Amino acid sequence: MSILYDVIILGGGPAGLAAALYAGRARMNTLMLEKEKAGGMIIQTEEVDNYPGAAEGETGPSLIEKMLAQVDRFHTKREIDTITSVDLSGPIKILKGNKDDYQAKAVIIATGAKPRLMGCPGEKEFIGKGVSYCATCDAPFFEGLEVYVIGGGDAAVEEALFISKFAKKIHIVHRRDELRAAKSIQQKAFENEKIDFIWDTVVEEVMGQGFVNGIVLKNLKTGEVTEKKASPEDGILGVFVFVGYDPITELFEGIINMQNRYILTDENMKTNITGVFAAGDVRVKSLRQVVTATSDGAIAAVQAEKYIEEMEN
Ligand code: NAP
Repeated sequence: MSILYDVIILGGGPAGLAAALYAGRARMNTLMLEKEKAGGMIIQTEEVDNYPGAAEGETGPSLIEKMLAQVDRFHTKREIDTITSVDLSGPIKILKGNKDDYQAKAVIIATGAKPRLMGCPGEKEFIGKGVSYCATCDAPFFEGLEVYVIGGGDAAVEEALFISKFAKKIHIVHRRDELRAAKSIQQKAFENEKIDFIWDTVVEEVMGQGFVNGIVLKNLKTGEVTEKKASPEDGILGVFVFVGYDPITELFEGIINMQNRYILTDENMKTNITGVFAAGDVRVKSLRQVVTATSDGAIAAVQAEKYIEEMEN
């Protein structure tokens, strides 16, 4: 733990990468820590057409590749480690990881969010064996098969459209009779012949033998429970779950002010702890998109720079 960084950025999604770019360009001694690999949830997205300047056909991975290359031009140090505890109370912030401990004058939390589980029997058991939270990663495995997509938001409908390139039939299972997804995305799904909708319905159980071969659905209005099985010629089916995301904030519980487990900040990304900032999907905000995440990251880095300058003068 010998190096005292100016700023440590926790998380390497769009918010973390934008913070790293601004911190690097401001010549702050910066470390970006990522649990596995950089990119965040956007690398699971097949089409990014709402980020200003994105090329036609831009994907999550292609956008992140460019962001990473840009960050690397400004020599921000990047490490893979999982932080297990933090001490943010003093002027020197300490982060303890599995591999090493780290210290910095300021911390930017850009840990993002993770897919929410449905919580029904069989879901966890069959993750990677028919249950998936990432269409980009897993849709090709369901070529010519039947797939159930759970959820009614942007993610569910957009990913169902992507899965329709592979699967022979997609059933979108939504707990209400109206989608939450943007109207433009809804329209594409309604026009897609491979996609149909099962309204007012939730999943009661995911079933299988080694791999998913059935799903139990419950109609919330009638109470009717239906078991849907894979056809005998297919033998298996897919269940893609997009019922929202939960913020990754466990490390900061009881330390940083939150609302529904999302971190509260002011418009300058400042948390209630001096020298600690939050950016991107992890914080309380009205719109969670790449464009708002990168904006948060930029503001957080500039504010961290100001904070350090004031602290030292
Ligand atoms: P979301 O907007 O929160 O939608 C979650 C969906 O899952 C809702 O339809 C919700 O139903 C349903 N749901 C929640 N809990 C459930 C449960 N336990 N059982 C069954 N259904 C459940 O989440 P999202 O679609 O993942 O999107 C997250 C954020 O990313 C949003 O801000 C979204 O706009 C953004 N996003 C944007 C794009 C894009 O702009 N192209 C793409 C993907 C995501 P109710 O509707 O009844 O609440």
